[in-house]
Amino acid sequence: MIDTDAFYLHSCERGFVKLEAVARIIAWTTQTKWGPIQITINLSKPEKDPRDIVAAARKAASDEPSYQDPATGAFRPCPLCVTEADLECGYAKRMQLNGEPWGLWYSPYAYYQEHCIAMSWHHRPMHIDRSAFACLFDVVDLLPQYFFGSNAELPIVGGSILGHDHFQGGRHVFPMQEAPLSESFELTGFEGIRAGVATWPVSVIRLSGVDRQMLIQAACTVLDAWRTYDDSQAGIVSESEGERHNTITPILSRRDGEYQLDLALRCNVTSAERPLGVFHPHERLHRIKKENIGLIEVMGLAILPPRVRGVMADRGLSRDDVGNLFAEVLECAGVFKWDAAGRAAQSRFIKVLTS
Ligand SMILES: [Zn+2]
Repeated sequence: MIDTDAFYLHSCERGFVKLEAVARIIAWTTQTKWGPIQITINLSKPEKDPRDIVAAARKAASDEPSYQDPATGAFRPCPLCVTEADLECGYAKRMQLNGEPWGLWYSPYAYYQEHCIAMSWHHRPMHIDRSAFACLFDVVDLLPQYFFGSNAELPIVGGSILGHDHFQGGRHVFPMQEAPLSESFELTGFEGIRAGVATWPVSVIRLSGVDRQMLIQAACTVLDAWRTYDDSQAGIVSESEGERHNTITPILSRRDGEYQLDLALRCNVTSAERPLGVFHPHERLHRIKKENIGLIEVMGLAILPPRVRGVMADRGLSRDDVGNLFAEVLECAGVFKWDAAGRAAQSRFIKVLTS
C-alpha cells in the first residue's frame, strides 16, 4: 500500500507536479445530452498530430535517450522509462503488478486531481490482453482511492505514447463512470457479475462485481469477441492487410464496494473518405480537437489545446458551444451510434456476447 498523500505532497513540494502550470488550466462543465461533460484548455500541453504519434512510437522502439523529462530534467529513452535515480530523488515509487516491477509518479501537467502514471519498469509497447487486465486490478487493489485505465495499444484510438506500457490514474470521478446503463444483459458463463451498456457516446460495455478473477475472465471474453468482430453496416472492420483494428480502452475503479470495469470498444480502421480514422473526430470538429481520443477524453474530460481560445474568440463560440462540440467529438469515436441503425448494430454485438 502506497501512502499517496505523502507522495503527492512531496511531488508538489519538489516541483515534480507543475502546480503553476496546472493553475493556468481553463476548466468548465457543460451540460450536454449525455450529462455533464468536463472541458479543459491546457495551456502547457503541445498538440500532437495523430501521425506524429505513430512516428514517435517507432522512434521510441529504436532510439538513444533523447527525451528530457520536464519535471526532473533527466534524459530518458522515452517519456515513461523510469530509473533508479527517479526512486532516489522521490520522483517515483516502485510497486509490483502481476508479479512484475512497475513505477508510479505524478503527471507534471496534471489534467485532474492527483493525476498519476503507472508504468512498466521494462520498456515495452502498450498491450491490451489478460496480463494488462491483471495489472489493472492489482494497481486498483493497491490504490483503491484512485481509478486506473489504459489507453488502447493501436494508433488513432490509443493515447499519445504507444511505445511504453503504462496506465493513467488519479483521484477523479469522470462523467462516463457515472453514466447510467441503457440496458443490462447476462454475459454467458458469468452469472456472478453484472453486464450492461453505458448511456455514453463512446461505446462502453460495463462489467460490475466483486470477484476480480471472474471480471478478468469476462473482460477477456469481451475483448476476444471484439478483436475479430466485423460489421460492414456499422463500418467496423477488425482487420485489413494484416493489421488489427479493434481494441479496448479499459477503465477500472472501485465504486460502492465493488469493481466497475468500463470497456470502451474502439476501432481504428481508416477509409478513403476518413483517412484519419472512421471513428476519429470529423474534420469539421478539428477546430477544437484533431488528436487521438485517449482514455481521459473517452471518460468525458476534454483536454483541448491552447489554440481553442483563439477559435472561441474568432468564431464567437461560448463555453457551452465548445462543450457541445466536444460531445460530438465523442460521438465520432463511438462504434455503435445512438440512432436506430447504431442501436441495431450494438444489439448484434451483444447477441454475440450472450449466445
Ligand atoms: Zn520507455
